[in-house]
Amino acid sequence: MLEFRAAALRPLVALALAAGLTPAGVGAATAPAPRALLEELVDLNTTHAYGSTAAAKLLHQHFLAAGFAPEDVTLVVPDAYPTKGNLVVRLHGGGRGRPILYIGHLDVVEAKREDWSFDPFKLTEDAGWLYGRGVIDMKGQDVAMAVSLMRLKQEGFKPARDLIVAFTADEEAGGDANGVEWLLSKHRDLVDAGLVINPDGGEAGMKSGRKLYVAVQTSEKTFLSFGLEAKDKGGHSSRPTADNPIYRLSAALSRLAQFRFPVDLTGTTREYFARRSALEQGQLQADMKAVGAGSADPAAIERLSAVVETNIMLRTTCTATLIDGGHAENALPQRARATIQCRVIPGESPESVEAALRTVVADPLIAITTVTAAKPNPESALTPAIIAAVQQTTQGIWPDVIVLPEMSAGATDSHFSRSVGIPSYGIDAMFDDLDDARAHGRDERIGVVAFQQDVEFTYRLMKRLASTAGP
Ligand SMILES: [Zn+2]
Repeated sequence: MLEFRAAALRPLVALALAAGLTPAGVGAATAPAPRALLEELVDLNTTHAYGSTAAAKLLHQHFLAAGFAPEDVTLVVPDAYPTKGNLVVRLHGGGRGRPILYIGHLDVVEAKREDWSFDPFKLTEDAGWLYGRGVIDMKGQDVAMAVSLMRLKQEGFKPARDLIVAFTADEEAGGDANGVEWLLSKHRDLVDAGLVINPDGGEAGMKSGRKLYVAVQTSEKTFLSFGLEAKDKGGHSSRPTADNPIYRLSAALSRLAQFRFPVDLTGTTREYFARRSALEQGQLQADMKAVGAGSADPAAIERLSAVVETNIMLRTTCTATLIDGGHAENALPQRARATIQCRVIPGESPESVEAALRTVVADPLIAITTVTAAKPNPESALTPAIIAAVQQTTQGIWPDVIVLPEMSAGATDSHFSRSVGIPSYGIDAMFDDLDDARAHGRDERIGVVAFQQDVEFTYRLMKRLASTAGP
């Protein structure tokens, strides 16, 4: 671990701090404007190859200039991964409960200049939009957290309990030095908390310019992969046999293609369907309402299962993702192998998924092995306190927007904090069009106004949550 505290400051700031003066020699503590900070962060390339340390150092300087004490702003870098730095900032509270920890990753997905309309590593404004890699995933939200914490500090706000914000490394592709995982295992004292808020999860959904909902992510499906393998002695292709492993495997995969796991609703998904129905009409509305009320008939389940978005909320899924087999054009195959990726509803065991797969495959000559084991990732309880805080904050800015609990089918860093027993919620109010998702894609963008509103939302929610005592 490397630690950079006062030593990493610009000489002028270090000098001023050493003399007990206000940072930066400009009198009062200063905080950057959200837009200016976003520009600085986007202009730093934090893809896997470059890492997050430079961005963490940049924020480090801003927090010191904003008046945070050096001992409350800690830059921590794993020895083995000097480019995968993390910054942890603490605003001290009144000790009424365990801290609240906000997490936000600083790294971004690769972007190629030739694929984009603008330079992805230069914040560009065009027709009401801010373009740049990471603006929605999630440098925009990082900025919202940073400026909100600085604003609270400068207002002299004293939280009921400590408020910690961790800006972390390596959430995206690569992921060999994931900051949240590393901080929780090696620097638990810095980030230990009773509650985690992660703006990388959840979503603020909009369609055709109409703001619909703010979703609070309480859970994620667990990731689990299996290998299926059929083997045979092989031989000359002029003497075909019925034991051909490619045929055996194909037949098993065809059975899997027809198979659906049983419906398994959680507290979150039941409530999701109940509330989401308010945004729909006709049959879909009736079907969602019925699922939410626990009274859906097989026809309603069938209709919802036919659509990917609702199907994945209803059940565990397993699907073939890779296949290979055989060794020569003129030989009977000696082996055929497929990889099956499963996304498991929280609370279901890996063993039960494997048992279901075995029943579907229904061929004792096909070996089933675990390729990637599941990591336990329980659902965080849908507490009225969290939902009410998000609801009040949301309706204070957008009176017509509803709040939904959500289970996501993909994964975020919250699975690390949930797996060590900290209730974790994905809350993101950066409104984005559901039909034009650009995270990880080309011309990633956020609305100028959406960004300003997210900054305000983040400040208000942070203040509201930190005003309440915790467990
Ligand atoms: Zn992200």
